[in-house]
Amino acid sequence: PLLANQIAAGEVVERPASVVKELVENCLDAGADRIDIEVEKGGAKLIRIRDNGVGIPKDELILALSRHATSKVATLADLEGIASLGFRGEALASISSVSRLTLTSRPATQPEAWQAQAEGRDMAVTVRPAAHPVGTTVEVLDLFFNTPARRKFLRSEKTEFAHIDELIRRLALSRFDVTFVLRHNGKPVRQYRAASDPAACNRRVGVACGERFIQQALTVRSEHQGLLLHGWLVPPKADGSPAPELQYSYVNGRMMRDKLINHAIRQACVEALGVELAPAYVLYLELDPRQVDVNVHPAKHEVRFHEARLVHDFLLQVLREALRSVRPGVAE
Ligand code: ADP
Ligand code: MG
Repeated sequence: PLLANQIAAGEVVERPASVVKELVENCLDAGADRIDIEVEKGGAKLIRIRDNGVGIPKDELILALSRHATSKVATLADLEGIASLGFRGEALASISSVSRLTLTSRPATQPEAWQAQAEGRDMAVTVRPAAHPVGTTVEVLDLFFNTPARRKFLRSEKTEFAHIDELIRRLALSRFDVTFVLRHNGKPVRQYRAASDPAACNRRVGVACGERFIQQALTVRSEHQGLLLHGWLVPPKADGSPAPELQYSYVNGRMMRDKLINHAIRQACVEALGVELAPAYVLYLELDPRQVDVNVHPAKHEVRFHEARLVHDFLLQVLREALRSVRPGVAE
């Protein structure tokens, strides 16, 4: 199983940030509203992720570290729905095969916590008692210690951490109801506090995108025929200097890089400001999930809108109006 898991790891685990992605997604799946991410040496030395989610019962810990063990696919229909994501139920087993991984957890129904670890060629799982509040901690030490070829491909500590920082930024911008705390080498780097009111949301976007972004941003909010667009937008400067390279769009809560959305945004700038440059933005499009296919290509973050024309024109119109309203300020 070690080799099989390591081969599977080749698909899932490219670098520390991919480990963090899988683990944090598990925390979100577990219903956590606070996730602490601790990283040392860009994640190569340590990745420790703690959540306050539902936890894993003792008798499921071993299963959680086994390949193809997922508690999330109940029916064949479910499986078909997520088939294109590949590697489902393999993340923990894969990561565990290329690191020293411990999984510690306590569900609310259990008075004590347990810790599991898979070791050796057979990846035998041992379980021992541990101290832990309700929730789960996954600790990943020495990533790729036993796959030196992969370890060699790790970039500098700074670069690897930048990937992690960017990943958490994207997640934090997609889930305002969850607190994310990110530490590197013992120092707090980002604290995204859960936010519900507008002021708190602005502060959080300031943490993600910088104070300058949020100070210059106009807020957008518009609804039409079941389409809702909301978020923040910083127009490009009329003198041609580009807005900061912050461009995040979410469709029904999922981060997307979509041609249609990008086109509508650029077109709005051309029509409202006469510049070819794209603005910086954090934008959320919400629509009936039946109007959009999001599994077209999970890795590319592309979507397909059933009524592409309608969506495009809605975005164009809302953003054009928003940008026109700031035109005098931009022209200075
Ligand atoms: P998948 O997420 O595709 O099910 P993983 O290998 O990522 O596969 O996780 C295996 C299983 O371990 C999950 O299905 C879930 O039951 C359990 N699990 C992993 N992480 C957590 C967590 N943070 N909280 C609760 N359960 C978890
Ligand atoms: Mg998972």
